[in-house]
Amino acid sequence: MTVVDESVVSGSSSRRVFVGQVVGCLGWMTLAGASPAWAQQVFGPRYGRVVRDEPWGRLEEVADGIWALISTPLVDHPDARRTLCNGGIIAGTSGVLVVEGFGSDAGAEWMAEQAEVLTGKRPTHVVVTHYHGDHCNGLYGYGTDADAPKRMSTQATRQLLVERSRVPEERRVLPSGVISIRNDGRIDLGGRQVRVTPAAGHTSSDVVLRVDDPAVVFCGDLVWNGMFPNYVDAIPPVLDDAVKAIGADDGVVYVPGHGTLADASAMRRYQELLLHVGDAARRAIESGTPIEEAAARYRLPESVADWVLFSPTYFRVAFQAWERVLAG
Ligand SMILES: [Zn+2]
Repeated sequence: MTVVDESVVSGSSSRRVFVGQVVGCLGWMTLAGASPAWAQQVFGPRYGRVVRDEPWGRLEEVADGIWALISTPLVDHPDARRTLCNGGIIAGTSGVLVVEGFGSDAGAEWMAEQAEVLTGKRPTHVVVTHYHGDHCNGLYGYGTDADAPKRMSTQATRQLLVERSRVPEERRVLPSGVISIRNDGRIDLGGRQVRVTPAAGHTSSDVVLRVDDPAVVFCGDLVWNGMFPNYVDAIPPVLDDAVKAIGADDGVVYVPGHGTLADASAMRRYQELLLHVGDAARRAIESGTPIEEAAARYRLPESVADWVLFSPTYFRVAFQAWERVLAG
């Protein structure tokens, strides 16, 4: 386990940044600029053909007409935080959907440009998986003209943005399209359907996007890979069920909200981690061990022992989320 924290990084290039405006999934993310080894450990593995490689992330072609953005905010570069979260581009014959609004206008602008370069079409749809700032703060960057893409979220996510977004008014764009399960959550891009399934667990409203042939799942922050998830808004038992429902099937490409692409075995390791955290928290509560103490003693299971923590507080945040459920 590696704690990516300022206190263990020497050198002036390390810095602490609040991924703010609304509370972000990365929360207090510390950029370990002095140690590219960590960035290499977390973001090194590549699965698809890399078609763009930038300081803030890379686009990997995961299937014909489908690209995943793997954001790499740990690298030491002034633009490293342009996109912040993972996302993607899904192309059909009549439409192009971009997954996520990203952490900045420049990040969303860049993704819209990439969509046009790769598919010949401007994005027609944008779907945000949940309300956190690293996924939504850049929504304005898709433009406000008549030909701007339709920005979509669940009603609950839209409401959370109304209540909690701290993006300045003049550049705050809320999703106008509501994802509902009435039409089975399908978005038709022409010869390609995207199923958008409402879920919860990372927040009170998340969505999962699926393309069936070939099978690619955009998991939002219900899934993290290579780094311990942020439970700041989590409802842990609901999260565990949502992750179980996402599955761990051979031949499926899973795009996590943060970290590199996951396959079936990575998904199984992640499911085990979530259960491991839940068991440890439950034992602490049953034995009357103070939650802070139990979190301080917690160690990752062997199968994910090389995962990093963005903040040393993340175990405590996870245990407190379990405590809210079990003791509440
Ligand atoms: Zn996130």
